[in-house]
Amino acid sequence: LKVILLIVISFLTIEKSNAQKMDVESSIEELLAKMTLFEKIGQMNQVNGRNPTDKLPGQIRSGEIGSMLNIGSPELVNSLQKNAKEESRLGIPLLIARDVIHGFKTMFPIPLGQAASFNPEMVELGARIAAKEASEKGIRWTFAPMMDISRDARWGRIAESFGEDTYLAEIMAVAMVKGFQGKDLSNPSSIAACAKHFVAYGAAEGGRDYNSTYVPERQLRNVYLPPFEKAIREANCATVMTSFNANNGIPASGNEFLLKNVLRKEWGFDGIVVSDWGSIKEMVQMGFCEDDKEAALKGVNGGVDVEMTSGTYLAYIETLIAEGKLQQKTIDDAVRNVLRLKFKLGLFDNPYTDIKAKSSIYSPEHLQAAKQAAEESFVLLKNKNNTLPLSNKIKTVAIIGPMADAPHDQMGTWTFDGEKAMTQTPLQALRKQYGKEVKFIYEQGLAFSRDTLKVNFSKAIDAAKQADVVLLFVGEEAILSGEAHCLAEINLKGAQSELLEALSKTGTPMVTLVMAGRPLTIDKEIKLSDAVLYLWHPGTMGGPAVADILFGKSVPSGKLPVTFPKYVGQIPVYYNHDRVGRPAHKKETLIKDIPLEAKQSSLGASSYYLDAGFDALFDFGYGLSYTTFEYSNLVLSADSLSSSDVLTVTVDLKNTGKYQATEILQLYTADLAGSIARPIKELKDFKRINLKPGETQKVTFKLPMERLAFWNIDNKKIVEPGKFNLMVGGNSNEVVTKEFIVRQ
Ligand code: BGC
Repeated sequence: LKVILLIVISFLTIEKSNAQKMDVESSIEELLAKMTLFEKIGQMNQVNGRNPTDKLPGQIRSGEIGSMLNIGSPELVNSLQKNAKEESRLGIPLLIARDVIHGFKTMFPIPLGQAASFNPEMVELGARIAAKEASEKGIRWTFAPMMDISRDARWGRIAESFGEDTYLAEIMAVAMVKGFQGKDLSNPSSIAACAKHFVAYGAAEGGRDYNSTYVPERQLRNVYLPPFEKAIREANCATVMTSFNANNGIPASGNEFLLKNVLRKEWGFDGIVVSDWGSIKEMVQMGFCEDDKEAALKGVNGGVDVEMTSGTYLAYIETLIAEGKLQQKTIDDAVRNVLRLKFKLGLFDNPYTDIKAKSSIYSPEHLQAAKQAAEESFVLLKNKNNTLPLSNKIKTVAIIGPMADAPHDQMGTWTFDGEKAMTQTPLQALRKQYGKEVKFIYEQGLAFSRDTLKVNFSKAIDAAKQADVVLLFVGEEAILSGEAHCLAEINLKGAQSELLEALSKTGTPMVTLVMAGRPLTIDKEIKLSDAVLYLWHPGTMGGPAVADILFGKSVPSGKLPVTFPKYVGQIPVYYNHDRVGRPAHKKETLIKDIPLEAKQSSLGASSYYLDAGFDALFDFGYGLSYTTFEYSNLVLSADSLSSSDVLTVTVDLKNTGKYQATEILQLYTADLAGSIARPIKELKDFKRINLKPGETQKVTFKLPMERLAFWNIDNKKIVEPGKFNLMVGGNSNEVVTKEFIVRQ
């Protein structure tokens, strides 16, 4: 009976959603039939609301503007919506957008930090909270998540990404979209998400923002496109943003193949494609269009429905239609996509924000979730002699460094709405939470991360000498990562490294805590520290999260979502690179080891750097805990399967240390031979498991063989038969392995 009931319910649900769809589609057609060409073009025109002029209400009434970003206040949103809804000819509401990237007011860790949690539920919750807070201010569309695969830490926007791995980015992208959009877009607390930047933006040459990319179609499909496809197909992501870069010579905002063939035809996307800021017009600068008019033509024909800020659609579409260069149908399709979202968001019924409603901003639940997200994002990179957690014998602690009390900077990049005054720094939190039991001495040493003045070193050194332990907070200010904030050297800036070195000479044990928007080349600094905790930019509640982790109230569990290079010259360095014919061995000869009289031929011939070796500083998936975990007894349910089977994998995980803690188990596979050369390994699943000291758990993974599919030599996505390795472990380098076969 239960089964029948379930079938009936799901049938009714499908029927209901089909009926709603039909309703929306017929409303769109009804409206479209009444619209003038000017009003249609208006829907494709998005303008910046940062410095609104007196002309704005009139422009909205005339139907010239369909969407806006960056409007300062909900009062202004309501008044502009009134111009649109009640005072324009057809009463079409506006779409109000904003970059709500990792929190609105309650800031969560930067997305790279969130990815380190390997916790999609937490990521979804963070986005849900951001949506609730932002929608209270009239925002119903965010330009997030950014799901660009990022394998170059020089690129400032790596901070905004989920890191280097396609599978992890897929999972996190889906989670974030679900969080923003909620169960139903028409709920006033739901905001439309935007999958960006379509596509390969993270592969910018030299890690320089906006730069060209050269990613062949197969690699696009295997590496860069999957998070977008999942966000759209599994989470119904409502919008997509084109990227700034040209890939293989074609700017993303004029790329018919990607926007029409892949996005619309293959994936069935029926949402809005929006350009990035000015990226239509920039096609002129790129030498892809002669002038703005051609840019508008290539943008519309390329498949971009809405132009963000550069106004070429408004200026030229009418003429282009009159000249027969653009088809009316193309415009109608674009407008349909815009109206569809406006209907789905319920804006036609009510575009207004209830300003008097009780606010959820900075509610205790929101702050608690932000704190937990921060804790889960921290990655423990070193912990010599169990320096951490701090022992309860510790009486005096020296807090030093430019990032210990940097309320703005700990929020990281893209924090339009986060407030410094509401941010709790590590210094504040340590004093507040542990100030009764412990004496804290605070000396900045350096005023900010780029500071090169060493005038305050002596005070910092004195503080270190008086203390039982030093907590040194270094890293990057928020301004050093993010859009257009790329670096040629990804080291600790200013005199931070010198400060660290000077403190290490005092002999007081030192915990280095790094707040940064990217991996930093901190090999030397790691060696000089007793413990190192990577904090990324942890957001509003970073301080309380750090305090509890340092004193052992919670235990670090984050794992690196991106490989840390030792040297900039190793970039791009990522774990799932293709196999090479001459892989490096652990013990390759380095320059310092080459005898002076050595001949060319006396060196091995393998893929490594003579001056840096092969190994990264830290591998993808790496992260320590206060406890230790042991993996054993890896068992596969079969050693030979068909491509439609599901492999059950079990492994025993034992907590062999003294703390109850969470381990992130990672499952990788390696396709040992394919129709194209294959990556050395690829993440295919992960799980967070919490164990008490001494506890063992048999952990089960279900791996559908479909997940082994890739775009092969024939440009088809298939599971190729053959031998595979299956690996499970606590990072991408230390794994236990078993072989299995996928049959023909
Ligand atoms: C960025 C986008 C962002 C847009 C609107 C652009 O410069 O590349 O990611 O959504 O501005 O602020």
